[in-house]
Amino acid sequence: MNNRLALLENRVKARLDAIKDPLNGAGLLSAGRVSGLAVREDGKISFTIEAPANASERYVGVRAEAEAAVRALDGAASVLVVLTSHDAPPAAGIGRVKSVIAVASAKGGVGKSTVAANLACAFAALGNKTGLLDLDVYGPSAPTLFGLQGRKPLPGPEKSLLPIEAFGLETMSIGYLVDPASPMIWRGAMATSAVRQMIDDVMWGELDVLILDMPPGTGDVQLTLLQRVPLAGAIIVSTPQEMALADVRRGIAMFEKTRAPILGVIENMAYYVLPNGDRAYIFGQGGARRTAEQAGVPFLGDIPIDVALRASADAGKPLVATDASHSVSAQFLDLARAALANAARFAKPAPSITVN
Ligand code: ADP
Repeated sequence: MNNRLALLENRVKARLDAIKDPLNGAGLLSAGRVSGLAVREDGKISFTIEAPANASERYVGVRAEAEAAVRALDGAASVLVVLTSHDAPPAAGIGRVKSVIAVASAKGGVGKSTVAANLACAFAALGNKTGLLDLDVYGPSAPTLFGLQGRKPLPGPEKSLLPIEAFGLETMSIGYLVDPASPMIWRGAMATSAVRQMIDDVMWGELDVLILDMPPGTGDVQLTLLQRVPLAGAIIVSTPQEMALADVRRGIAMFEKTRAPILGVIENMAYYVLPNGDRAYIFGQGGARRTAEQAGVPFLGDIPIDVALRASADAGKPLVATDASHSVSAQFLDLARAALANAARFAKPAPSITVN
């Protein structure tokens, strides 16, 4: 290299080191941000600025500054500055979701999954980016409820799984990962690792609300699962008969252990509307409401026994998403509004800002 070029290179280095690194305040060169510096005979100068992970935005101005500073040197014919970054991809898992809401029941068969799916559609209809995570290892129902039997989630970056989009929701289910026909023992290590994968490895979008369809029951499996997840709140689904009410109390006790606020109790299959418009209270009347009141937790509302609701669930077309004008859809929208209002009420108050 001739003297003139060596001199120019030194002056380039001095200019670059006079620019402060926005993260640690040292000169750019001393901070180790500059690589691949080349100064050519014809005055063409090129180098790369390497921004640290997830800070590339802060180096856009630095790049312009460096380019201008070097261009101003005598002997610099043209300057090419490349900015590279090693920004990490967005993290998988439910940590980024704004509000995670668990839908639980003490027993199977009370309509928990049907309610969870239609509630998720109602949250979406109210303008929330919504996901549904079916964690019911014993009987995953999301594939049926959303008509997604046989669908497999695609792999995403960094060993993540991409949710499957249906009816405007992002969905994920244990049922997408295992063949429902294959005999399986869902207890023990396999269930635990599948649930861990569901919680940690799904690449959700920017969700406002994620509904967890919990495995039925109030035992250790459910408690352990809930302790892994930061919940904004829980919703308990029950039927009205007296027998079910002890279950509601058990559900409330379980969520108290996790310190998750109970957004409310929903009474499903509350009544049947007869052709003449009268209500037949097939399983008894108002038990879940009374139990909620006695336990000091909110009662969100009830859902009748309804043929269209059952048929739409079996057909893989959630009622709320496919027939918004149905009276039961309107009831789900009211339940979703009430749940969101309670979630806002229970959320930790934001630090107050005083404006003079
Ligand atoms: P769980 O998740 O509690 O086991 P499901 O949501 O799978 O219960 O519901 C059990 C059955 O009851 C399904 O066939 C579902 O379509 C039906 N079902 C649930 N809720 C209602 C309702 N309000 N009216 C009519 N059928 C219902």
